[in-house]
Amino acid sequence: MPTQSIIITCGNPQCRKRLQINEPEKFTKGAKCPCGYINLLPVMPPPPPVTSSGIGERPTAFQSDDDAPTGLGQRVQAPPQPATPGWLIVKDELTESQTFTLHIGSNTIGRQSVDNPANHMITSGDKYMSRPHCTLDVRLNKMGVLDFILQDGVALPKGAYKNSLNGTYVNGKETRLHAQDRIYLQDGDTIQIGITKLVLKTGYSAQSTQQASQKVADMDYERTVMNFINR
Ligand SMILES: [Zn+2]
Repeated sequence: MPTQSIIITCGNPQCRKRLQINEPEKFTKGAKCPCGYINLLPVMPPPPPVTSSGIGERPTAFQSDDDAPTGLGQRVQAPPQPATPGWLIVKDELTESQTFTLHIGSNTIGRQSVDNPANHMITSGDKYMSRPHCTLDVRLNKMGVLDFILQDGVALPKGAYKNSLNGTYVNGKETRLHAQDRIYLQDGDTIQIGITKLVLKTGYSAQSTQQASQKVADMDYERTVMNFINR
């Protein structure tokens, strides 16, 4: 039975391509980006069972042995769990910087609202931003590493789901997230909701709120996607 596809951002800081991975459980050695970087996938299958001959059943491999990882992105031991999973930091030419501390689980994000509050509410006059707008799921994966999984919209009571009006964008790419997209974000990725941009800083790359804010302040601004305005 086919599983849902996932979309990852290439881990090569010079590349950052978005890669759609169908049947991620088949990519046991990771997914090789056109740039050559091997991206380990968040959804990894359990190790193959050992047969009586002592040789494991080999799962279908994505890469030939010629494509074996060369060093970048190799599987390593899980890093120690950070004290804080991460932060979302407003990094925008028009909006005052604001820092939100993420928690494990579902983090909803949107414009300040009394009637439809999000977990993390941005003080902003951005009329293109929904209340709430998107959800960032922070989860410990099977390798013991935190995943940061973005989707447009928010879950409502009774199993309903509501997408945002104007869409969610990642890293300045023009393509709006589809309703069913789940984007595995990397440290330093930019989320755009409305015309407001936020940068993800993970607890693996910063030790404190102050350090996370400083690192984001030192970054360049991501470009702003404007294609949903005056459609
Ligand atoms: Zn790449």
